[in-house]
Amino acid sequence: MTGPQGRLFGTNGVRFIPGVSADLEFVIKFAECIGTYFSDGEILAGRDGRLSGEVMSLALTSGLMSSGRGVAEAGLVPTPALQYAVKALGYRGGVMVTASHNPAEYNGLKIMGADGVEINRLDEQKVEKVFRDGSLKRADWKNVGISRSEPSVIRTYLNGILSKVDTGPISGRKFSVVVDPGNGAQCLAAPYLLDMLGCKVITINSIVDGRFPGRGPEPTPDTLGDLGAAVRAVGADLGVAYDGDGDRALFCDENGTVYWGDQSCSLIADYLLEGTPDATIVTPISSSQVVEAIAAKRKAKVIRTRVGSVEVSRTMIERGAFFGFEENGGCIYPAHIAVRDGGMATALMLECLAARGLSFSKIMANTLPKFFQAKTKIGVAPEKVKEIMKAVEKQGGQRLEKVDGLKIWTDDKSWVLVRPSGTEPMIRVFAESDTEEKLGSIFRKFARLVKSASAS
Ligand code: MG
Repeated sequence: MTGPQGRLFGTNGVRFIPGVSADLEFVIKFAECIGTYFSDGEILAGRDGRLSGEVMSLALTSGLMSSGRGVAEAGLVPTPALQYAVKALGYRGGVMVTASHNPAEYNGLKIMGADGVEINRLDEQKVEKVFRDGSLKRADWKNVGISRSEPSVIRTYLNGILSKVDTGPISGRKFSVVVDPGNGAQCLAAPYLLDMLGCKVITINSIVDGRFPGRGPEPTPDTLGDLGAAVRAVGADLGVAYDGDGDRALFCDENGTVYWGDQSCSLIADYLLEGTPDATIVTPISSSQVVEAIAAKRKAKVIRTRVGSVEVSRTMIERGAFFGFEENGGCIYPAHIAVRDGGMATALMLECLAARGLSFSKIMANTLPKFFQAKTKIGVAPEKVKEIMKAVEKQGGQRLEKVDGLKIWTDDKSWVLVRPSGTEPMIRVFAESDTEEKLGSIFRKFARLVKSASAS
């Protein structure tokens, strides 16, 4: 049997290339371990639109049934739709076949508890232990699970989102929105959500295709040029794009300017926090300091976590946080569900724009202080990582934070974060400053340092 080498769980579930770094035998056995971990009840299973998704779903269902679990099959749905439905429809847990924003050849498995949130690191270790020590339970012939279809996941999801926003003012604005699901799972939900919110909907890359021929499964300002162009061409009010499984959303304004998630989510936070003093916002160490500026204005508190949506979600639940986000466009609104949700982010953004009554670009300029950012990732041999991080730490600075990787503040408004990736043999370098000159100088310095230390 082939399975991923080393630790099974990465930053976000288990990821592999089917047929290369894992085979179906692995998926079936791993699903039996998931079923053993849950020990009772019915599991909601779904998949994104990847070409390997259907065969992997069959293996997942087989393994879960073999362990005695009943399986409700949601079919092709966005990850946040599955997560919300687990909670809203009362399932024991959920498993999603997805590799999120990874290239088309990848796939993976993501496990959710009864609250719809990814299981925490300790529970991941429990599943992994069952896998390693072979203590999985197989049901006898009279106790194997049965499967059935669960057709109401997307309807439940859309109704859940609509129930959490003020739909009247949104519909009243009759927004014109270009939506780019990137041939991913939000093709089946987001255009309908916008339609239900009274928007004029223009779609691009909106047919599910597991090869992601449009612009790839990862939305970034670099990959969303067509979205910006479409928004300008049709004179839309905004554009929105999602990743392969639909839990991240990036927005562009009426000029086609695409914003990173820490900017768009800080805008949403500013709106939501207006009537909510003493709220807590949770975001990873890597996102922009713009959120601290918004929080100071709205008398809110910011908690910084390690990178990864599980860290953000679980910290939010522990601390009773009001709102959270990641700079990649993952937006978490626990009043709906404490997981990243591209659809909920879209509805909240529209509510914010409707309430402010100006154009998207003007609201951005009026609300958020200006910071400049740069990011890159540099390939490094895994055995070099420790040495590189030591060389980075030696550089010193005004202040050092070690929440995840090393975040060095060179002055009150300038920082660089150097962090080994949890999923690839890479080191990520992020920097931010209030001037382009300072940004250029710290970013070049640390990117060069990582490159030269990895080559030495
Ligand atoms: Mg995703």
